[in-house]
Amino acid sequence: MTPLPAFTDNYIWLLQHQQQVLAVDPGDGQAVLQWLARDPGLQLDTILVTHHHADHTGGLQALVQATGARVFGPALEKLPVAHSPVADGSTVPWGPLCWQVLDVPGHTAGHVAYWAQPEGQRPVLFCGDTLFSGGCGRLFEGTAAQMLQSLDRLSQLPADTRVCCAHEYTLSNLRFARAVEPENAALAAYEQACRALREQGLPTLPARLGTELEINPFLRSRVPAVRAAVAHVTATTAPTNAQVFAQLREWKNGFQ
Ligand SMILES: [Zn+2]
Ligand SMILES: [Zn+2]
Repeated sequence: MTPLPAFTDNYIWLLQHQQQVLAVDPGDGQAVLQWLARDPGLQLDTILVTHHHADHTGGLQALVQATGARVFGPALEKLPVAHSPVADGSTVPWGPLCWQVLDVPGHTAGHVAYWAQPEGQRPVLFCGDTLFSGGCGRLFEGTAAQMLQSLDRLSQLPADTRVCCAHEYTLSNLRFARAVEPENAALAAYEQACRALREQGLPTLPARLGTELEINPFLRSRVPAVRAAVAHVTATTAPTNAQVFAQLREWKNGFQ
């Protein structure tokens, strides 16, 4: 599994099985074509798209033209090329894998995620801009309640799932996480490990879902320490889970 860097902080995830290649959210077609050119036998045959934003779909036209790859994407969203629509419960077979589609609205209205369990390996999740390491996507088209429900669904996947996020936002997310939970020892250790990776120019991803459950405030909005921190900055009494989540998201939006 390769996170191919694109633009400032995007990753285009690439998966190879024998000579078959699968790409996820190719915002930059040239970057993928260059990667493929390393080995003339490689064949990009499948593209998975999580949502319609240009930094995830900008390379689709060039890649479909150059390779004839089939494109799968959210049933509810329009993409720059024709695509096979997928939604909750859809499956996409590829090589030895069978991708399971989950609806995860919130960042966009039709956002989907793809999860698979490779034989003898840890499961893989492509979650686009829904879940980031230490954070979550902004609410552009959905509500806080929707995003909370989407993150709850992802939280129920096996703890050893490798979370392949679409952006390298980890360190800045962890700065906010630390403001929310200054006493969280797992968070402090994780931040140190991620900083060491970035100092070597390495990605912090994929993240481990079980670790995210311990350190990501957006997966922990029902934890008493997180609720208390949110209550402290907002001075609201007895908010619902969705309200706490919304306030946490607002707090992060204004966080420097
Ligand atoms: Zn996006
Ligand atoms: Zn994005």
